Amino acid sequence: MQIVSRFAPSPTGRLHLGHAYSALLAHDHARERSGAFLLRIEDIDPGRARAVFVDGIIEDLIWLGLEWDGEILFQSERLPIYAEALDRLKDRGLAYPCFCTRSEIAAEVAASASAPHGPDGPLYPGTCRRLDAGERARRIAAEPHAWRLDTARAIAATGPLYWHDGDTEVLAEPQAFGDVVLARKDAPTSYHLAVTVDDAAQGVTDVVRGRDLYAATDVHRLLQALLDLQTPLYHHHALLTGSDGRRLAKRNGAPTLASLRESGTDPAALIADLRMGQLPGGYSTAGA
Ligand code: GLU
Repeated sequence: MQIVSRFAPSPTGRLHLGHAYSALLAHDHARERSGAFLLRIEDIDPGRARAVFVDGIIEDLIWLGLEWDGEILFQSERLPIYAEALDRLKDRGLAYPCFCTRSEIAAEVAASASAPHGPDGPLYPGTCRRLDAGERARRIAAEPHAWRLDTARAIAATGPLYWHDGDTEVLAEPQAFGDVVLARKDAPTSYHLAVTVDDAAQGVTDVVRGRDLYAATDVHRLLQALLDLQTPLYHHHALLTGSDGRRLAKRNGAPTLASLRESGTDPAALIADLRMGQLPGGYSTAGA
Protein backbone atom coordinates (compact mmCIF):
# COMPACT_ATOMS: atom_id res chain seq x y z
CA MET A 1 0.00 0.00 0.00
CA GLN A 2 1.30 3.44 -0.88
CA ILE A 3 1.94 5.73 2.07
CA VAL A 4 0.11 9.05 1.80
CA SER A 5 0.79 11.92 4.19
CA ARG A 6 -0.38 15.51 4.13
CA PHE A 7 0.27 19.02 5.38
CA ALA A 8 -3.01 20.77 6.18
CA PRO A 9 -2.46 24.39 7.22
CA SER A 10 -5.21 26.91 7.88
CA PRO A 11 -4.54 30.10 5.87
CA THR A 12 -5.07 32.45 8.79
CA GLY A 13 -1.55 33.88 8.94
CA ARG A 14 1.96 33.41 7.61
CA LEU A 15 3.69 30.11 8.36
CA HIS A 16 6.38 30.07 11.05
CA LEU A 17 9.17 27.67 11.97
CA GLY A 18 6.71 25.34 13.73
CA HIS A 19 4.76 24.90 10.52
CA ALA A 20 7.97 24.28 8.57
CA TYR A 21 8.91 21.53 11.05
CA SER A 22 5.48 19.88 10.75
CA ALA A 23 5.42 20.10 6.95
CA LEU A 24 8.96 18.70 6.79
CA LEU A 25 8.16 15.70 9.01
CA ALA A 26 5.00 14.89 7.01
CA HIS A 27 6.92 15.33 3.75
CA ASP A 28 9.85 13.14 4.82
CA HIS A 29 7.56 10.48 6.27
CA ALA A 30 6.07 9.96 2.81
CA ARG A 31 9.22 10.48 0.75
CA GLU A 32 11.30 8.03 2.84
CA ARG A 33 8.69 5.39 1.97
CA SER A 34 8.23 6.34 -1.71
CA GLY A 35 4.85 7.72 -0.74
CA ALA A 36 2.81 10.74 -1.71
CA PHE A 37 2.77 14.04 0.18
CA LEU A 38 -0.39 16.12 -0.21
CA LEU A 39 -1.21 19.75 0.51
CA ARG A 40 -4.64 20.61 1.83
CA ILE A 41 -5.73 24.16 2.60
CA GLU A 42 -8.10 24.20 5.57
CA ASP A 43 -9.92 27.40 4.65
CA ILE A 44 -13.33 26.81 6.19
CA ASP A 45 -13.24 29.73 8.62
CA PRO A 46 -14.85 32.58 6.67
CA GLY A 47 -13.80 35.15 9.27
CA ARG A 48 -10.11 34.27 9.30
CA ALA A 49 -9.06 32.49 6.08
CA ARG A 50 -7.45 34.81 3.51
CA ALA A 51 -6.35 34.17 -0.08
CA VAL A 52 -3.14 36.10 0.58
CA PHE A 53 -2.15 33.54 3.22
CA VAL A 54 -2.81 30.70 0.75
CA ASP A 55 -0.31 32.40 -1.56
CA GLY A 56 2.07 32.70 1.41
CA ILE A 57 1.83 28.97 2.21
CA ILE A 58 2.62 28.03 -1.38
CA GLU A 59 5.51 30.50 -1.54
CA ASP A 60 6.96 29.26 1.76
CA LEU A 61 6.77 25.56 0.86
CA ILE A 62 8.41 26.24 -2.49
CA TRP A 63 11.12 28.25 -0.72
CA LEU A 64 11.73 25.34 1.66
CA GLY A 65 11.88 22.92 -1.28
CA LEU A 66 9.02 20.79 0.03
CA GLU A 67 7.16 19.58 -3.05
CA TRP A 68 3.68 18.19 -2.78
CA ASP A 69 1.95 15.79 -5.15
CA GLY A 70 -1.13 16.48 -7.23
CA GLU A 71 -3.61 19.28 -6.93
CA ILE A 72 -4.00 21.31 -3.77
CA LEU A 73 -7.28 20.48 -2.06
CA PHE A 74 -9.26 23.46 -0.76
CA GLN A 75 -11.79 22.69 1.95
CA SER A 76 -13.85 25.73 0.98
CA GLU A 77 -14.68 23.92 -2.29
CA ARG A 78 -15.99 20.85 -0.51
CA LEU A 79 -18.77 22.21 1.68
CA PRO A 80 -21.52 20.00 0.11
CA ILE A 81 -19.46 16.92 0.95
CA TYR A 82 -19.24 17.89 4.62
CA ALA A 83 -22.97 18.69 4.62
CA GLU A 84 -23.68 15.20 3.35
CA ALA A 85 -21.59 13.66 6.15
CA LEU A 86 -23.44 15.82 8.67
CA ASP A 87 -26.78 14.66 7.21
CA ARG A 88 -25.79 11.08 7.85
CA LEU A 89 -25.18 11.89 11.51
CA LYS A 90 -28.45 13.82 11.74
CA ASP A 91 -30.34 10.90 10.18
CA ARG A 92 -28.99 8.64 12.90
CA GLY A 93 -30.09 11.06 15.61
CA LEU A 94 -26.46 11.74 16.58
CA ALA A 95 -26.39 15.48 15.82
CA TYR A 96 -28.57 18.23 17.24
CA PRO A 97 -29.00 21.92 16.46
CA CYS A 98 -27.51 24.35 18.96
CA PHE A 99 -28.88 27.89 19.18
CA CYS A 100 -26.70 29.09 22.06
CA THR A 101 -24.51 32.13 21.63
CA ARG A 102 -20.97 32.14 22.99
CA SER A 103 -22.02 34.49 25.78
CA GLU A 104 -24.97 32.28 26.75
CA ILE A 105 -22.66 29.29 27.00
CA ALA A 106 -20.13 31.30 29.01
CA ALA A 107 -22.87 32.51 31.39
CA GLU A 108 -24.15 28.99 31.91
CA VAL A 109 -20.64 27.66 32.54
CA ALA A 110 -19.95 30.50 34.99
CA ALA A 111 -23.21 29.84 36.85
CA SER A 112 -22.46 26.16 37.31
CA ALA A 113 -20.49 25.23 40.43
CA SER A 114 -18.41 22.52 38.73
CA ALA A 115 -18.34 23.08 34.99
CA PRO A 116 -16.32 20.22 33.49
CA HIS A 117 -13.38 21.21 31.32
CA GLY A 118 -11.97 19.40 28.30
CA PRO A 119 -8.79 19.84 26.26
CA ASP A 120 -10.29 22.93 24.57
CA GLY A 121 -11.74 24.58 27.68
CA PRO A 122 -15.11 24.34 29.42
CA LEU A 123 -17.45 21.75 27.94
CA TYR A 124 -20.70 22.75 26.31
CA PRO A 125 -23.30 22.32 29.06
CA GLY A 126 -25.73 20.48 26.76
CA THR A 127 -28.52 23.08 26.89
CA CYS A 128 -29.83 22.45 23.36
CA ARG A 129 -29.44 18.68 23.63
CA ARG A 130 -32.44 18.78 25.95
CA LEU A 131 -34.81 20.59 23.56
CA ASP A 132 -37.71 18.53 22.24
CA ALA A 133 -38.26 17.82 18.54
CA GLY A 134 -41.01 20.43 18.18
CA GLU A 135 -38.94 23.26 19.62
CA ARG A 136 -35.94 22.21 17.53
CA ALA A 137 -37.96 22.27 14.30
CA ARG A 138 -39.52 25.63 15.10
CA ARG A 139 -36.24 27.29 16.05
CA ILE A 140 -34.25 25.78 13.14
CA ALA A 141 -36.55 27.65 10.78
CA ALA A 142 -36.13 30.94 12.62
CA GLU A 143 -32.70 31.15 14.30
CA PRO A 144 -29.07 30.80 13.35
CA HIS A 145 -27.75 27.52 14.70
CA ALA A 146 -24.72 25.28 14.88
CA TRP A 147 -24.86 21.48 14.89
CA ARG A 148 -23.30 19.46 17.69
CA LEU A 149 -22.49 15.81 18.07
CA ASP A 150 -24.42 14.01 20.78
CA THR A 151 -21.16 12.49 21.93
CA ALA A 152 -22.54 10.18 24.63
CA ARG A 153 -25.03 8.70 22.19
CA ALA A 154 -22.38 8.37 19.51
CA ILE A 155 -20.05 6.52 21.87
CA ALA A 156 -22.89 4.24 22.93
CA ALA A 157 -23.42 3.43 19.24
CA THR A 158 -19.77 2.62 18.46
CA GLY A 159 -18.45 1.06 21.68
CA PRO A 160 -14.76 1.46 22.63
CA LEU A 161 -12.47 2.75 19.87
CA TYR A 162 -8.71 2.75 19.45
CA TRP A 163 -6.18 4.41 17.21
CA HIS A 164 -2.41 4.18 16.80
CA ASP A 165 0.12 6.88 17.58
CA GLY A 166 3.18 5.31 15.98
CA ASP A 167 3.39 1.86 17.57
CA THR A 168 1.27 2.76 20.58
CA GLU A 169 -2.39 1.82 20.71
CA VAL A 170 -4.49 4.59 22.22
CA LEU A 171 -7.98 4.24 23.69
CA ALA A 172 -10.12 7.07 22.30
CA GLU A 173 -11.83 9.19 24.94
CA PRO A 174 -13.86 11.65 22.85
CA GLN A 175 -16.17 12.30 25.80
CA ALA A 176 -13.39 14.57 27.11
CA PHE A 177 -14.47 17.14 24.49
CA GLY A 178 -18.20 16.94 25.22
CA ASP A 179 -20.62 17.67 22.40
CA VAL A 180 -18.24 19.02 19.76
CA VAL A 181 -19.40 21.33 17.00
CA LEU A 182 -19.89 19.62 13.62
CA ALA A 183 -21.13 22.67 11.75
CA ARG A 184 -20.73 26.25 12.91
CA LYS A 185 -23.27 29.01 12.73
CA ASP A 186 -21.05 30.85 10.26
CA ALA A 187 -19.64 27.82 8.40
CA PRO A 188 -21.42 24.65 7.34
CA THR A 189 -18.74 22.40 8.83
CA SER A 190 -16.15 22.35 11.61
CA TYR A 191 -12.47 21.47 11.81
CA HIS A 192 -13.23 18.03 13.31
CA LEU A 193 -15.73 17.02 10.64
CA ALA A 194 -13.82 18.40 7.64
CA VAL A 195 -10.44 16.96 8.67
CA THR A 196 -11.94 13.50 9.24
CA VAL A 197 -13.85 13.45 5.96
CA ASP A 198 -10.87 14.74 3.97
CA ASP A 199 -8.18 12.46 5.39
CA ALA A 200 -10.36 9.56 4.27
CA ALA A 201 -11.33 11.13 0.92
CA GLN A 202 -7.67 11.80 0.08
CA GLY A 203 -6.59 8.30 1.08
CA VAL A 204 -4.26 9.62 3.78
CA THR A 205 -2.61 6.61 5.40
CA ASP A 206 -0.38 8.52 7.83
CA VAL A 207 -1.30 11.72 9.61
CA VAL A 208 1.87 13.48 10.78
CA ARG A 209 1.00 16.52 12.87
CA GLY A 210 1.81 18.29 16.13
CA ARG A 211 1.04 17.00 19.61
CA ASP A 212 -1.38 19.88 20.09
CA LEU A 213 -3.85 17.77 18.07
CA TYR A 214 -3.22 14.51 19.93
CA ALA A 215 -6.40 14.66 22.04
CA ALA A 216 -8.54 15.79 19.10
CA THR A 217 -7.67 12.51 17.39
CA ASP A 218 -10.11 10.83 19.80
CA VAL A 219 -12.91 12.87 18.23
CA HIS A 220 -11.68 12.11 14.72
CA ARG A 221 -11.60 8.39 15.54
CA LEU A 222 -15.20 8.56 16.73
CA LEU A 223 -16.32 10.36 13.57
CA GLN A 224 -14.49 7.78 11.42
CA ALA A 225 -16.41 5.00 13.14
CA LEU A 226 -19.74 6.80 12.72
CA LEU A 227 -19.13 7.60 9.04
CA ASP A 228 -17.56 4.22 8.12
CA LEU A 229 -14.23 5.80 7.18
CA GLN A 230 -10.82 4.17 7.41
CA THR A 231 -8.52 5.18 10.28
CA PRO A 232 -5.06 6.41 9.32
CA LEU A 233 -1.97 5.83 11.42
CA TYR A 234 -1.12 8.90 13.48
CA HIS A 235 2.32 10.29 14.32
CA HIS A 236 2.09 13.29 16.63
CA HIS A 237 5.37 15.12 16.80
CA ALA A 238 6.87 17.33 19.47
CA LEU A 239 6.12 21.02 19.18
CA LEU A 240 8.90 23.51 18.71
CA THR A 241 9.43 25.82 21.63
CA GLY A 242 11.30 29.07 21.85
CA SER A 243 14.18 29.75 24.24
CA ASP A 244 11.52 30.94 26.73
CA GLY A 245 10.11 27.39 26.72
CA ARG A 246 6.85 28.50 25.16
CA ARG A 247 5.40 26.84 22.12
CA LEU A 248 6.16 28.67 18.89
CA ALA A 249 3.14 30.62 17.81
CA LYS A 250 2.44 33.82 16.01
CA ARG A 251 1.11 35.37 19.21
CA ASN A 252 4.44 34.58 20.96
CA GLY A 253 6.29 36.43 18.25
CA ALA A 254 7.62 33.36 16.41
CA PRO A 255 9.41 34.53 13.28
CA THR A 256 7.55 33.80 10.08
CA LEU A 257 9.25 31.92 7.27
CA ALA A 258 8.77 35.05 5.17
CA SER A 259 10.81 37.08 7.66
CA LEU A 260 13.53 34.40 7.82
CA ARG A 261 13.69 34.48 4.05
CA GLU A 262 13.91 38.26 3.99
CA SER A 263 16.71 38.22 6.53
CA GLY A 264 18.75 35.96 4.26
CA THR A 265 18.22 32.53 5.85
CA ASP A 266 19.38 29.72 3.60
CA PRO A 267 16.37 27.37 3.25
CA ALA A 268 18.52 24.30 2.53
CA ALA A 269 20.50 24.91 5.74
CA LEU A 270 17.30 25.49 7.69
CA ILE A 271 15.81 22.21 6.42
CA ALA A 272 19.05 20.36 7.16
CA ASP A 273 19.03 21.73 10.74
CA LEU A 274 15.38 20.79 11.27
CA ARG A 275 16.02 17.28 9.92
CA MET A 276 18.78 16.74 12.47
CA GLY A 277 16.67 18.16 15.26
CA GLN A 278 19.06 21.10 15.42
CA LEU A 279 16.97 24.18 15.43
CA PRO A 280 18.21 27.61 14.53
CA GLY A 281 19.38 29.63 17.56
CA GLY A 282 17.21 29.49 20.64
CA TYR A 283 14.66 26.92 19.56
CA SER A 284 14.21 23.38 20.83
CA THR A 285 11.70 20.55 20.67
CA ALA A 286 9.64 19.68 23.72
CA GLY A 287 7.11 17.14 24.82
CA ALA A 288 8.34 14.34 22.54
N1 GLU B 1 -5.52 22.95 9.92
C1 GLU B 1 -4.98 22.54 11.18
C2 GLU B 1 -4.05 23.62 11.70
O1 GLU B 1 -3.55 24.41 10.91
C3 GLU B 1 -4.21 21.25 11.15
C4 GLU B 1 -5.06 20.08 10.85
C5 GLU B 1 -4.42 18.73 11.00
O2 GLU B 1 -3.19 18.58 10.78
O3 GLU B 1 -5.12 17.81 11.31
O4 GLU B 1 -3.83 23.67 12.88
